[in-house]
Amino acid sequence: MAIGLLVALIAAPVLASDQKVVFVVLVVFGSLLPDVDHKGSKINRLLPVTKLVATFFRHRGFFHSIFPPLIILGIGYYYEFILVAQALAIGYLSHLLSDSFTKLGVNYLYPVSQFRVMGFIEVGTIWESVLFAGVILSIVIMLI
Ligand SMILES: [Zn+2]
Repeated sequence: MAIGLLVALIAAPVLASDQKVVFVVLVVFGSLLPDVDHKGSKINRLLPVTKLVATFFRHRGFFHSIFPPLIILGIGYYYEFILVAQALAIGYLSHLLSDSFTKLGVNYLYPVSQFRVMGFIEVGTIWESVLFAGVILSIVIMLI
C-alpha cells in the first residue's frame, strides 16, 4: 500500500490533473488487488467475497502476473473509463514491483514463463523495514 501511495503521488499530477484524490484512492485500491489470491490478504478481509479467488488460484501465480492489469486496461479503454483503469493498473503494477523486491519474487509472465524477478528482501526482516521507511520518507517529502 505504501509503495502504491508513493506511485500514486508520482503519477497523479501527470495523469489526473483535476481528479487527483480519486486517482490516488484508486491507485492504492489497485495496489491491494494482486493479493486477491491470498486468503488472509487485506483485499480479502475488505471484500470477503473475493476469497473465492484464493481457492482456485495459487498465491503469486496468475494474479501476480502482468495479465490482470492488462485486462483491466483493456476493459477500461473499451468501456471508456480510462482514468479509473489507469489508476487501478498502476496500483496493481506497483504491488507487483514491490513484491519483486522479495526473495519469492514475481513471475510477470505466469503461466507463459517460469522466470521470476526476485529481490533479496525477506518479509519481516530489517530490510523490509528499511524499504518501508524509505517509502514513507519519500511520501512525506512529496507531501511537503
Ligand atoms: Zn503480492
